[in-house]
Amino acid sequence: MTLKTNLHTHTRRCRHAADQDDRAWVEAAIAAGVETLGFSDHCPWQRADPAPPPGFRSGVRMDPEEIPDYFGSLLALREEYKDRIRILIGFEVEHLPRRIAGQDALFAPWPVDYLICGQHFLGDGSDEWNGNWVGAPSDDESRLADYVDRCLEAMESGRYLYLAHPDVIDYTGPTPVYERHMSRLCGWLAAHDSPVEVNLLGISGHRHYPRENFLRLAADCGCKAVLGVDAHDPARLLDPAPEAEARAMCARAGLPVVEPL
Ligand SMILES: [Zn+2]
Ligand SMILES: [Zn+2]
Repeated sequence: MTLKTNLHTHTRRCRHAADQDDRAWVEAAIAAGVETLGFSDHCPWQRADPAPPPGFRSGVRMDPEEIPDYFGSLLALREEYKDRIRILIGFEVEHLPRRIAGQDALFAPWPVDYLICGQHFLGDGSDEWNGNWVGAPSDDESRLADYVDRCLEAMESGRYLYLAHPDVIDYTGPTPVYERHMSRLCGWLAAHDSPVEVNLLGISGHRHYPRENFLRLAADCGCKAVLGVDAHDPARLLDPAPEAEARAMCARAGLPVVEPL
């Protein structure tokens, strides 16, 4: 990899990542030439307000009770590997106003280095147990508008280092409508020198993002891009192909790539 800083890394605790020890991600990052590795596993949610249905267990995030193990493990690795790599510890978080206070209470005892916003769900987050995430194809403009409003609110809060996969929303309606709403988002990000992430998991996983038309729009608005490996498997840190493709996409779009720190 030519990437020196990757702040988008998951661990097995989110239950959809490789079942490997945290050390495997650190070793892979060192082998890849990464100098700063930021862990940003999916944030845990407090159990109430709104509470999930009885018996529900998330397949996309750790339980609150796993936070001590997350920090315990990563702080020990930070110390052990301090001469070889810089390790940061954060979370990828949905900005859901009803959950912010509870989330802050969960994080308060721990040395959180940073948060990135990954707006996978809207509303109060109950879409998680209803199986309705923003990446599901939809031509509903109100959903697109809601997504953009929520991302803007998130970034205006100053809580997040950057917006992960801003093009995760899979709007399938008319292009002018898509561009009208997404240019609101890109305009704000450009004005505040807040980069858009080009998500390498989207490339390696052949997902609907990153979208070329979004990257062109971001470039037209004056945005800069950062690359996020979104590594759910240590092997993702060792594969140069998605990074090369992301850089080629940015070059075609005229979007400058910068390091996130
Ligand atoms: Zn994400
Ligand atoms: Zn992620």
